[in-house]
Amino acid sequence: MKRQTGAMLLTMFVLAALVIPGAFAQESPRPAGLGEATAKAATPFKMFDNLYYVGLDFVCAYVIQTNDGLIMVDTLFDTFWDTPAKGMQALGLNPANVKYIIITHAHDDHYAGLKKFKATYAPNARVMMSEADWALMESTLQRQGAEAIAGKGVPRDMIIKDGDELKLGTTTVKMYITPGHTDGALSLVYNVTDGGRTYQAFNWAGPTLQSPEIPVMEKFLASTRRIQGLAKDSQVWLHSHPWSVSFFQKYEKLAARKAGEPNPFVNPAEIPVFLQGRVTDTEKRIADAKARPAGAPQRGNRGGAN
Ligand SMILES: [Zn+2]
Repeated sequence: MKRQTGAMLLTMFVLAALVIPGAFAQESPRPAGLGEATAKAATPFKMFDNLYYVGLDFVCAYVIQTNDGLIMVDTLFDTFWDTPAKGMQALGLNPANVKYIIITHAHDDHYAGLKKFKATYAPNARVMMSEADWALMESTLQRQGAEAIAGKGVPRDMIIKDGDELKLGTTTVKMYITPGHTDGALSLVYNVTDGGRTYQAFNWAGPTLQSPEIPVMEKFLASTRRIQGLAKDSQVWLHSHPWSVSFFQKYEKLAARKAGEPNPFVNPAEIPVFLQGRVTDTEKRIADAKARPAGAPQRGNRGGAN
């Protein structure tokens, strides 16, 4: 009996690995050729009654609808600065109603469209970022020079601290600083509704390691362990890139959904599997790095921050 249970668990484990891309690899496999250079706008769509997707095939942008305006999460990179607004308009949302823009972390595929979006559609929107990532954005733009600052730089506005809550209308977005991917990468927790039911969504915006440095890997590991607790009651698992959470497979199921069928974005089982995969992999990377003789080459990342 015991052996059978073990075998059954092993089978479930293997099946989970097969059906959840990215669950066991630090760098979630992305479709061949998909990157900033080939990125295309995805069809904008309604994920939940109060959550919309207005991003690309490569990187996410979301809109949370409240009864007192819109909250935008990430603004894509410069080339696609207008895509979220066009998506909102196609979905019957007015980008002028964006009251807050949360930038999940300061890699330019998430913030570089901000300045033009804000100037064009929502000049009064408040911009929120962690202090570490405001600083990262500013230093990145500084390094890129005056032209980058003129095109992408926005003055420092609201600083998010760990555990802060953004309240708009009756909606609350809880925000945690979960360092690793960047020092100030955010995790967001908020409720979504579907057909009269409420679910807790968890957006871990920095779910990949970008550095082989031991202190950074240790930060990432600590954040991952913390998220295992923070996300324990969540049912919807979101990231800042769609490939790491089978996003478009879920989208296709949602598009084909018949009345009464569940929303495919509600999938609590994938959360602990994904997180444990990250813990195991990061522990191994740290152990490997510590075992490496001084001066030996490090196991690097794919290169290029996203
Ligand atoms: Zn990133």
